[in-house]
Amino acid sequence: MAAAGRLDLDGNPIRPMTICMIGAGGFIGSHLCEKLMAETPHTVLAVDVYSDKIKHLLDPPTAAEGQQARHSWDGRIQFHRLNIKHDSRLEGLIKMSDLELVSFIRRKFFLRTCSTVVVLPSLTRNLDVTINLAAICTPADYNTRPLDTIYSNFIDALPVVRYCSENNKRLIHFSTCEVYGKTIGSFLPKDHPLRKEPDFYVLTEDASPCIFGPIEKQRWSYACAKQLIERLIYGEGAENGLEFTIVRPFNWIGPRMDFIPGIDGPSEGVPRVLACFSNNLLRREPLKLVDGGQSQRTFVYIKDAIEAVLLMIENPERANGHIFNVGNPNNEVTVKQLAEIMTQVYSKVSGEPPLEVATIDVSSKEFYGEGYDDSDKRIPDMTIINKQLGWNPKTSLWDLLDSTLTYQHRTYAEAIKRATAKPVAS
Ligand code: NAD
Ligand code: UDP
Repeated sequence: MAAAGRLDLDGNPIRPMTICMIGAGGFIGSHLCEKLMAETPHTVLAVDVYSDKIKHLLDPPTAAEGQQARHSWDGRIQFHRLNIKHDSRLEGLIKMSDLELVSFIRRKFFLRTCSTVVVLPSLTRNLDVTINLAAICTPADYNTRPLDTIYSNFIDALPVVRYCSENNKRLIHFSTCEVYGKTIGSFLPKDHPLRKEPDFYVLTEDASPCIFGPIEKQRWSYACAKQLIERLIYGEGAENGLEFTIVRPFNWIGPRMDFIPGIDGPSEGVPRVLACFSNNLLRREPLKLVDGGQSQRTFVYIKDAIEAVLLMIENPERANGHIFNVGNPNNEVTVKQLAEIMTQVYSKVSGEPPLEVATIDVSSKEFYGEGYDDSDKRIPDMTIINKQLGWNPKTSLWDLLDSTLTYQHRTYAEAIKRATAKPVAS
């Protein structure tokens, strides 16, 4: 339900907003769009090259969903299929003013449906915020497609920052926890006591250094591009008054993340770890542990993380000018432990016994190719997001894997069976 009478954290009424969301068709974008449609009165101009993950929000309701001809959010989300690399429509969308928005909507909708008359009033507003999620953000690309990675994460984001700055539009930009790189502790001997000191591993927005490997370790092309765009946005804030918020996600996971190779993505593609391990479990193959799976990660449930983003959207005074870690420090595991837990959870949700040999070790060179390197450990300091927005993650690793693997099994098990079925000899 799109609630009326919503209040911000200071008790002020939140007026309906218009949001230009770039990269809205991806994993995070799809969950954010869903949340905005279901629980707020805000309008989304959704920009992406793909729309499959938000199709359910864009398409008319099916007969099974009821007799009414419209979703409760009808008209509050519009999809713009465009590639921000080379499309002059981007600037228009970011700087859209009341009048432009009204005439745009008239052009787009009056021709198609007369029911638009009813939704027009909710759309006749100034654009309130641009959210940029668009990026190449799968580690398998960082060392194998470093140019595309740098262009996508730095060069392609430049016009978005410039249009926001020049037109006095607020920007929420998605960066990454990877800008921290390696922990200080990782340079100490393995059993050094200082490795246990939080100062040597907890990652803090305004205090931790960014530590990347050498240039030939092209893994860091992504982190470096993200760091430079952060610095540019920060500079635009300091010199030109850009109102910005930077988000550093720490391994957000959940349904619709990436793709399952050979089913809804290329068979040779390598997605992030959740989808890699899901694919192995669905196909009853051992999970591959890169360099023994000793790296540590903290995983946060996408639905918890989206709550944090909504707080940023609706509390500009508290969010502007800040960089926020968004993660769950309580959900830390090694990648090997993640593989073990996913194996147990998947066995429970699928009803299939785990494989006798559930994991195998592979070298990073074999798995990712030359130039791979890794972040050793990622514990987010939560002080700033706690103080500014009062946000805390809620979902345990077991619970978030339970709901995510239930979704993976329901969505993909049959398709995998069909894809792997041997043709019957005639
Ligand atoms: P995603 O790949 O699912 O979504 C990115 C979307 O951007 C995709 O739908 C893609 O089609 C779109 N896009 C890319 N280039 C585009 C272009 N030139 N024009 C139009 N659309 C384009 O990734 P995600 O997990 O949803 O991540 C979103 C953002 O969050 C990224 O900036 C990423 O770096 C950052 N991030 C995410 C995580 C995480 O845990 N998921 C972690 C760190 C950082
Ligand atoms: N990884 C792994 N097996 C896989 C995929 C990933 O061991 O099949 C490891 C990877 O080397 C890294 C961690 O899992 O240490 C997380 O990888 P992900 O791709 O999710 O992204 P990252 O957290 O490194 O940005």
